[in-house]
Amino acid sequence: MTDRSIALVTGANKGIGLEISRQLAAAGVHVIMAARDPRKLVAEAKDLARMGRSVSTVALDLLDRASIDAATRSVAEAFGRLDILVNNAGIFDPADGPPDTASLDAVRRVVDTNFLGTLSVTQAMLPLLRQSSEGRIVNLASSLGSLAVNKDPSSPYYAARFIGYNASKAALNMLTVQLHETLKGEGIAVNSVSPGFVKTDLTGQGIMTPEEGARLPVEFALGLRQGSGGFHEPDGVTPW
Ligand code: NAP
Repeated sequence: MTDRSIALVTGANKGIGLEISRQLAAAGVHVIMAARDPRKLVAEAKDLARMGRSVSTVALDLLDRASIDAATRSVAEAFGRLDILVNNAGIFDPADGPPDTASLDAVRRVVDTNFLGTLSVTQAMLPLLRQSSEGRIVNLASSLGSLAVNKDPSSPYYAARFIGYNASKAALNMLTVQLHETLKGEGIAVNSVSPGFVKTDLTGQGIMTPEEGARLPVEFALGLRQGSGGFHEPDGVTPW
């Protein structure tokens, strides 16, 4: 057991998830770095430990119920609670695209991971979050999941028409809203946080570094930004 806040970050092996893990650990949180291939976490976890950070690692594949259950059990055994869940893991599929041409298989893969996988992890971790005195769930959303942005020709994201990815993030926003309404009497904050346009393996391009993209999700994870049931991006509140 530890007095530190306990956070679990999915997809912690690279990109924004790795940076969120580094920044949370630097803030004194014990970070459980989760990845579908935990071997990818070994070097980073060692480096963080060498720097005096408190981290551990766990295998967690959003598409594998057994791995989610095993990860949940291991958090329960080690800590008995979870204070912060950062639902970061996600995919983009190059065969995704506009609704008239996108590959249905690609759409299914993206929705399975980004929405159903995240829902599955969240449901599994909820009993542990309910053991926290101040639980927080941060869902890594995207401006592309905004219905308003998708119909606004003046938005820089208007042309990014990926029915699978955008719908998966719109569905994630529905999770944020419904979970907020479900949990609001229990002191667990739930927010959708868009990191901005960040250069990672997922995008291949972007105007922000993963370090910059991690900042707003980390502020919500640490409770430095108050409120629940919102959709936020670095420029402010995003329209649903
Ligand atoms: P990334 O560098 O590609 O990282 C994605 C992470 O998700 C990787 O750790 C990956 O693990 C993990 N992942 C994928 N499928 C998984 C599964 N089934 N189970 C467990 N982990 C899985 O992408 P990123 O840009 O950092 O994206 C992180 C989050 O931010 C995503 O949810 C993304 O949609 C969101 N986001 C990103 C941007 C942006 O501009 N980059 C903008 C808005 C929102 P592997 O290494 O094993 O594949």
